[in-house]
Amino acid sequence: MSKYIMALDQGTTSSRCIIYDKQGQTISVGQMEFTQYFPQEGWVEHDAEEIWTSQMTVANEALLKGGLTYRDIDSIGITNQRETTIVWDKHTGVPVYHAIVWQCRRTADYCEELGKDAALVERIRQKTGLILDPYFSGTKLRWILENVQGAREKAEAGDLLFGTVETWLIWKMTGGKVHVTDLSNASRTMLFNIHDLCWDQEILDLLGIPSCMLPTPVSCSEVYGETMPELFGGALPIAGAAGDQQAALFGQTCFSAGEAKSTYGTGNFLLMNTGETPVLSENGLLTTIAWGLNGKVNYALEGSVFVCGAAIQWLRDELHILENSPESEAMALSVEDTAGLYIVPAFVGLGAPYWDPYARGAIFGITRGANKNHLVRATLDSLAYQCYDLLTAMNRDAAASSAGLAGLTALKVDGGACANNYLMQFQSDVLGCEVLRPACIETTSLGAAYLAGLATGFFRDLEDVKTNWQVDRVFAPAMSEEKRSALLAGWKEAVSRTMGWAK
Ligand code: ADP
Repeated sequence: MSKYIMALDQGTTSSRCIIYDKQGQTISVGQMEFTQYFPQEGWVEHDAEEIWTSQMTVANEALLKGGLTYRDIDSIGITNQRETTIVWDKHTGVPVYHAIVWQCRRTADYCEELGKDAALVERIRQKTGLILDPYFSGTKLRWILENVQGAREKAEAGDLLFGTVETWLIWKMTGGKVHVTDLSNASRTMLFNIHDLCWDQEILDLLGIPSCMLPTPVSCSEVYGETMPELFGGALPIAGAAGDQQAALFGQTCFSAGEAKSTYGTGNFLLMNTGETPVLSENGLLTTIAWGLNGKVNYALEGSVFVCGAAIQWLRDELHILENSPESEAMALSVEDTAGLYIVPAFVGLGAPYWDPYARGAIFGITRGANKNHLVRATLDSLAYQCYDLLTAMNRDAAASSAGLAGLTALKVDGGACANNYLMQFQSDVLGCEVLRPACIETTSLGAAYLAGLATGFFRDLEDVKTNWQVDRVFAPAMSEEKRSALLAGWKEAVSRTMGWAK
């Protein structure tokens, strides 16, 4: 039996490959950044060919660094930036346009137009679990069909294929033999009925999308096909796929209803497994498919915040008050408090639970004594407050649901910024619950590896996988209730003053 799983982690700014052993330990890593295109304000694109070549380069790099060959690899699992939309020619494999990235706001006007029909918005929410927003793939796909010359005719003639990033990679790796999307990625297109597990004809008609270009929905853990032998020296089974946030939930082994994780990366994503029941949010969260596994579907409630670690990057790259992100911890701890400062990092509007594309960032409460350390501390605090807003919404939805979910008593964390001990302690303080940081915070790629290994028998079952989760540190709440309420009241007030700013 081969000893390792190859996880392909196709992210927004870089392609990575991590090779894991059975204990979930990292054997080797390949990583490279790729080009970001910003053709107009608010537009974000990637070159789908570069996504493909970079992903294959890092996969071979990881093999080489680990002194491995394809014979050492049991199977491949994929996790990917979600919602990003690719359309290509089925005969030549050439994309008809750049990949339109999840962050791209080019369809905002169209969404606003559609949004005037409240009944339609509600129907879309009921069927897809999503809020009508340019974030999701559906309106991006429509944009390509409307704006790329000849695309609509070719699509209708059955010559074009659509896919999110995992679909594209699987199609390319199998030499164009397999055109599938896993259920977790399908549920982010705004074209997929998450109850019936099929493409929704009413929404396809509304957006003018021919169903012949859509991939076949499949589970997150099964052998989809084999790689072309020339890619790695021999054929390898591709056995698992999930969108990045769902993969992280899986990598954190949140297998039971009521378990949740918070990822502090560029953005902040809080997901709670709600079991086999989709819970429709009354508090601004999304309902999404967590994964399809062994003939069953698990759902999740999701809160998405667009700017999290990106606010720390802003302090570093735009304000130049940090040399590097980890330095923020010592700077925050060098002062007693924020000197009354609040920052709301609504740089691209606000996501969950506010959903205000017109909000903009602001700093409040500046006095003569405020210095850069206070600002750094206030920025870290804002990341924790944003997650507090998500968790509060989630606990409300959980309590009101018929799924028998209890409010969260401990939160598992991951993502780059969770390495910051100041941030994690403050997070625990404002949430009033324990924060659990695992030894392995690369849970996204680990989740993809688990999904692939479960399909091939590399991992026996979920219990087998669960034993790999090890805690690094537990942060327990230590703040008085009085102080906590006062801080949170200030945050609420600050957020309310940023809303509608750019309207
Ligand atoms: P992504 O996968 O979204 O690219 P990562 O999970 O790699 O993000 O996390 C990187 C983000 O975390 C960056 O925005 C960075 O500024 C932030 N970050 C990394 N380390 C720290 C730290 N010690 N303190 C605060 N922020 C950090």
